[in-house]
Amino acid sequence: MDQEVAVECKQDRNKKSCSCSYEPCARKGICCECISYHVRHRELPACCFPPAAERTYDRSFEHFARLVMQKQV
Ligand code: SF4
Repeated sequence: MDQEVAVECKQDRNKKSCSCSYEPCARKGICCECISYHVRHRELPACCFPPAAERTYDRSFEHFARLVMQKQV
């Protein structure tokens, strides 16, 4: 039997710890929308990147892989 579970969005709390520097984004703090948006574009969300890399707004898998190879993440 399927049960529907109401889950409260923690957008306000998430926003406080969000490391994304792209201020106009409407998905800020809505982590489920944030990750699905970026994965659809072969990217990862801001919180996967160290601050200097995050500020480049290059959120591509390739950029992340380079940082892994350089042991920056
Ligand atoms: S990582 Fe992307 S989707 Fe998430 S808050 Fe930042 S700009 Fe928006």
